[in-house]
Amino acid sequence: MVAQRRELAKLPLLDEAAVLRHFEANKIPVVHARRLWHYMIQKGLTDWSALPELPKRALPVLEQHFSFVTSRVVKRTDSADGSTTKLLIEYQDGQRIESVIMRYGYVDLASFPETERARRRATNQTSYRSKKRATLCVSSQIGCAMGCTFCATGTMNLIANLVPGEILEQLYHARQIEPISGIVFMGMGEPLDCYDNVIATIQGMRDPGRFSISPSRITISTVGVIPRIKQLIKDAPEVGLALSLHAPNQTLRSQIVPTAKAWPIERLLAATDLFVANQNAAIKSRNRRRHVLVEYVIIRDVNDSDAVAHELGALLKNRDVLLNVIPYNPTAVPYDYKPPSTERVRAFVDIVREGYDVHTLQRQELGQDIASACGQLVIENRAVKAPATASDGCASSSATTCVDGDDADVASDGLLDMEDLGRPSSGAASPAPAKGVTLRSRAKTATTTATPAMATMTPLAAAKRALATPIAVDSATWQSYIPLLVAVGAIIGVRLIFKFFDPMQA
Ligand code: SF4
Repeated sequence: MVAQRRELAKLPLLDEAAVLRHFEANKIPVVHARRLWHYMIQKGLTDWSALPELPKRALPVLEQHFSFVTSRVVKRTDSADGSTTKLLIEYQDGQRIESVIMRYGYVDLASFPETERARRRATNQTSYRSKKRATLCVSSQIGCAMGCTFCATGTMNLIANLVPGEILEQLYHARQIEPISGIVFMGMGEPLDCYDNVIATIQGMRDPGRFSISPSRITISTVGVIPRIKQLIKDAPEVGLALSLHAPNQTLRSQIVPTAKAWPIERLLAATDLFVANQNAAIKSRNRRRHVLVEYVIIRDVNDSDAVAHELGALLKNRDVLLNVIPYNPTAVPYDYKPPSTERVRAFVDIVREGYDVHTLQRQELGQDIASACGQLVIENRAVKAPATASDGCASSSATTCVDGDDADVASDGLLDMEDLGRPSSGAASPAPAKGVTLRSRAKTATTTATPAMATMTPLAAAKRALATPIAVDSATWQSYIPLLVAVGAIIGVRLIFKFFDPMQA
């Protein structure tokens, strides 16, 4: 699915490439661009004309091409417990996205599981309290092409990519509310689907002269675009990686994450293994090991059975991962997904943790009262109607999937959060994983191979949904088909030769 081209009347001042391009074209020293950003972000400058020593010829360039900020916060919603603030942000062309500030911290040692308390007592850390921190969940696209069936944003389809300056403006707005120490790309959009923009954004985030956020506190969450994960090893090796997995096998995953069809699950996990192995190669202390955060939205009667838990445990065993189990958060949508019971979630987590020695936690769910599910606020407050598409009529549900990007490192430090269900006991027996669990275990609710949610749709709607599902195929995937294409071409060529020239007669 191709993103729309947006006509931006003014460029964001935070867009590094655009500013440098115009400054260089007008022979304005780059140092003035850096001073502009520094004063804007770190000293509260609100108007470029107030910047001391700005060359006179820079003003007309800025006035003609740029806007100090190209977006505005049109709605701010705070959760009752103060943990979450959701911002609905509108850009100059009326497109809207959302960002979420998540506050964590001051977790008393008494809240830790006994095993962790014992470990800390043994090392005289009994008075430890974790640092208060605020993480911003940012959006990278308007809408999303991935179409995950539990996600409200997935129902919008992809409208357009955000340019780097626009993503950075989300951070600029959030910092007006409070200091932000971490970033997660877990808002609207698939960050690896607008790769170059996200890499340029990370540059601005980590730049000490601008937002000065440590790259290890920036996490990119992806449904899994394999060539891009490998490219990240070169372009952003220090960032955290989160994988939206949601299922332990290709069949079930393809139903929850339709674009997963393009990326076999074993190849995907091999890519994330490679990414984190590269990070850990340079780390000597075992306590500081990095992990891939594996996100698992758990949905009743879809991916919550014991058999699926065993399959998931077997898949993740002996990998540097931290499994984050997120109970599905229902909204009024055609997909008939429901949240699992607390007991079911606990049983599921126990199997993966105790049986397979996988770091597993059920994260604190923040902001339930303010609909912090991805895309929900935008859909409720649409200013610009997304183009009508075949899948507009089958809006999916959504879940609160934004989590603190520190999770993977938090676990390796032993700084577990309140809702952490503890680490596995080392000597636990490992039950054999059940085979063929996915559809059979769900056959109670659907007699076909469709998901329970799809079973509630008419065949026409289900067919439309299937046809509208984009399949992400990039150049690397096409390249893998080249040998097959060559072979097919050779067979056709030989058959043509035999058709027009019979060697037996010759
Ligand atoms: S969960 Fe993420 S990748 Fe999936 S549709 Fe929603 S925004 Fe896109």
